Amino acid sequence: MSVAARGPGGDAILISRVVLASSNPGKLRELQALLAPKGWQVESQSQFGLVTPPEDGNSFVENALIKARYALAATGLPCIADDSGLVVDALGGRPGIHSARFAGEGCSDEDNIQRLLEELSGVPEDLRGARYHCALVMVWPGTTEPLVCEASWEGRIALRPRGDGGFGYDPLFIVTGDTRTAAEMPSAEKNRISHRARAFDALAAGMPTATISG
Ligand code: IMP
Repeated sequence: MSVAARGPGGDAILISRVVLASSNPGKLRELQALLAPKGWQVESQSQFGLVTPPEDGNSFVENALIKARYALAATGLPCIADDSGLVVDALGGRPGIHSARFAGEGCSDEDNIQRLLEELSGVPEDLRGARYHCALVMVWPGTTEPLVCEASWEGRIALRPRGDGGFGYDPLFIVTGDTRTAAEMPSAEKNRISHRARAFDALAAGMPTATISG
């Protein structure tokens, strides 16, 4: 699982491999940057020919665990998976874990945005509170106890879409303490403060450093 190597200062370090149970190249780059300083080499599940299994859990954490445990069983390596979505107060927390397919199987981001606007039609601005939520888990061979990190990003749902950046519901998500939607933020800014960024930071902080003195 691990190979000895030399770190930047010439010290002996232990490089430990970890698999990201996702085929999203953006998430892979983000996690590689966060974990490389700790001696972890992050590989995508695609490198092992894996595809994501059906996500039929009842919560973000359950769905992340389904993906991580599937990758662990297939690779025998430590695995990380995330699951995220939009939680809207006026809709009792929907679309939540169903965010990707809110408007139906095979729907586009635009379809989801239209569906959300329809469901919220007539709801005044002060009752359109929402948050993005991210659950990030790590599982290891030989233990059933996962490391679980969760983070939310608070905001509210705009009356109409604004901005071209981001993805998903970003054109409708007005960030708390800001007048912009997430789609109007430079991606570097979003990627510093989003639900996913903060969950990834928490995971990096909670992971052991894969280093031995030498
Ligand atoms: P995933 O678990 O990261 O694949 O996210 C599931 C779904 O939640 C996405 O398809 C989007 O609809 C929504 N979502 C999650 N994070 C974001 C975000 O940062 N911006 C916009 N939509 C998001």
